Amino acid sequence: MSKVTITIDGLQISADQGMTVLEAAQANGLYIPNLCNHPDLKPAGLCRVCVVKMDDWKIAISCKQPVKDGMVISTEDPEVQQIRKNTVELIVADHPMTCLTCEADGKCELQRVAHYVGITPEGLNRYRRKVRAIPIDRSNPFFDVDHSKCILCGICVRTCDELQNINAIDYAQRGVASFISTLGAKPIADSRCESCGECVVRCPVAALAPKGAQEPMREVKSICAYCGVGCGVMLGVRGQKVVSVQGDRDNPVNKGSLCVKGRFGYKFINHPERLKTPLIKKNGKLEEATWDEALELVADKFSKSKGDKFAALASARITNEDNYLIQKFTRAVMGTNNIDHCARL
Ligand code: SF4
Ligand code: SF4
Ligand code: SF4
Repeated sequence: MSKVTITIDGLQISADQGMTVLEAAQANGLYIPNLCNHPDLKPAGLCRVCVVKMDDWKIAISCKQPVKDGMVISTEDPEVQQIRKNTVELIVADHPMTCLTCEADGKCELQRVAHYVGITPEGLNRYRRKVRAIPIDRSNPFFDVDHSKCILCGICVRTCDELQNINAIDYAQRGVASFISTLGAKPIADSRCESCGECVVRCPVAALAPKGAQEPMREVKSICAYCGVGCGVMLGVRGQKVVSVQGDRDNPVNKGSLCVKGRFGYKFINHPERLKTPLIKKNGKLEEATWDEALELVADKFSKSKGDKFAALASARITNEDNYLIQKFTRAVMGTNNIDHCARL
């Protein structure tokens, strides 16, 4: 790929031809505040926070502006500072100030941007109007939708369209009345949303927030155990408990994406009713047994059930090798072709 050289705030950097100014800055460790940009999505140029001055005269949206050799960019020009400060004050003036009790506190892009551009109480008072009163949509079992915190960046809409091809949500109404909505403004649980949560993990604020999320104390790399795809996950652990799951962006199988089961279906791990030892029915009652007792009983029953009395159902939650062994055992040892497999759980 051919390279170009551009200057950002007096610093010469090298960038790939075809990159945007924002991408070039980020690739070189330079921060340009932005809200609607996400590395997985096409640039949209919606929030207008990433403005820069180009070649000393033109105000450009850095997420949409391709790099050109010799280009000179200023991110701290007074006109740029004023535009992005006004833009961010307009967004924050319409936003609840509940950071300390908010799911996104400490990792919120709006907090980061507001702090960086230096919003002022005077600016907020100038623009403030009543925080919109759309009730929180708690219909989805895994995440809530709080419109009062939405900054209309459109990342959720583009995620659902560009990455998931589901198109469950879009902008509704116009101007200050705009909000993110399902078709017919139905509760999200009654829409075509598949609860994958891909929009939730990309929302830069807490307008889309997982229910009952807890900050983990540490993260452990693992593989999702639900099906044979083998998606990489980062399990968030607190004490002895798994409290969150994130897709592992370094895993080549899923590159950070997960389905609803892998992302939200982790509560079984610590569920008090989870079976941890085999149970054997004695006098009509299930009683805890050792693995040796259980395996002996199974072997005994199997030896009395050879031929077509026997059937095996293999699982997507075990490895290919284990599945192979089950069919081999069924055919070669039990003497039947009654073997099937559930490809997904
Ligand atoms: S979304 Fe961000 S800015 Fe808004 S209340 Fe939560 S932490 Fe604060
Ligand atoms: S819900 Fe989140 S991702 Fe969607 S537009 Fe609002 S702030 Fe952006
Ligand atoms: S959870 Fe998935 S399907 Fe539902 S709106 Fe978000 S991206 Fe679309």
